[in-house]
Amino acid sequence: MSAKIISGNEIAKQIREELKADVENLQKKHNIQPGLVTILVGGNPASVSYVTAKQKTSKDLGFYSIQNDQQADIAESDLLKLISTYNKDPKIHGILVQLPLPKHINENKVLYAIDPDKDVDGFHPVNVGRLMIGEARFYPCTPYGIQQLLIRSGTKIEGAEVVVVGRSNIVGKPIAMMLVQKKDGANATVTICHTKTKDMKTHTLRGDILIVAAGAPKSVTADMVKPGAVVIDVGVNRVGMTPEGKAILQGDVDFEEVKDTASAITPVPGGVGPMTITMLMLNTVRAAKMAAGIG
Ligand code: NAP
Repeated sequence: MSAKIISGNEIAKQIREELKADVENLQKKHNIQPGLVTILVGGNPASVSYVTAKQKTSKDLGFYSIQNDQQADIAESDLLKLISTYNKDPKIHGILVQLPLPKHINENKVLYAIDPDKDVDGFHPVNVGRLMIGEARFYPCTPYGIQQLLIRSGTKIEGAEVVVVGRSNIVGKPIAMMLVQKKDGANATVTICHTKTKDMKTHTLRGDILIVAAGAPKSVTADMVKPGAVVIDVGVNRVGMTPEGKAILQGDVDFEEVKDTASAITPVPGGVGPMTITMLMLNTVRAAKMAAGIG
């Protein structure tokens, strides 16, 4: 039996349509236009393409949208001043600093300088702490996208055994923390695996929902997956180039094998990837509403 494909492209499109209506409504009823600034330091090609995609999506949705490009040698103090300016700008509701930053800049210092109410990436310790105690304002975008994929594909999360492979601060730990909360769309029993986990297969085989964010191509094979599990593959690994010079992407899950064991699975590309930018947009709309005391 072949698994149902959970399409991030389709679910992201659905959410963006809802957001577009929300943005129009905010403008009409409250005269509010969500504002997002993306700050790019240097010209790392992957970062340029991520920022370009974020800008395009925010403009398509009708945001007030600024792209602020800075030279790779900008002083840390100047970057902090720039953030402080946007912290005070009432037209800007969300500030996104594209990572990674050049080596001479302390990434944490920069991220922690963002006003937590404008931290639409959800990386500020205040927002991480709020997530932990079940009072999140912003969920980090990739875990938020994963949760929406599960909810909108009709996956039963409450009471499920969820196994997460990977414990990074941007994916593994926050998704585990979100799904264990005493809330709708959560209430799962969660296990986190990492490189020091003994006999990972004994854990993954228990997962009704298996979320893999390891950055290790095809590291999860069919023999590690519980028959009928829902598998979310977060991994994006560049494993080669097409003759036309396009990157060949591979997930962390051996899709061809696992699709015959799982009941549902996300593809790579077209699974978690498209959700991440969409959830950034959703967070920005939420920040705009919060600033106006709506909702
Ligand atoms: P990361 O910071 O490198 O963390 C990887 C985690 O996986 C670590 O906790 C590591 O364990 C664990 N790990 C690595 N290999 C493992 C293995 N063979 N068995 C068990 N655990 C293993 O990566 P990340 O930032 O979380 O990203 C993970 C993947 O998701 C990457 O491919 C990345 O490109 C992708 N990603 C996609 C999106 C998207 O929007 N689609 C967003 C973010 C990330 P240790 O802690 O013990 O080292």
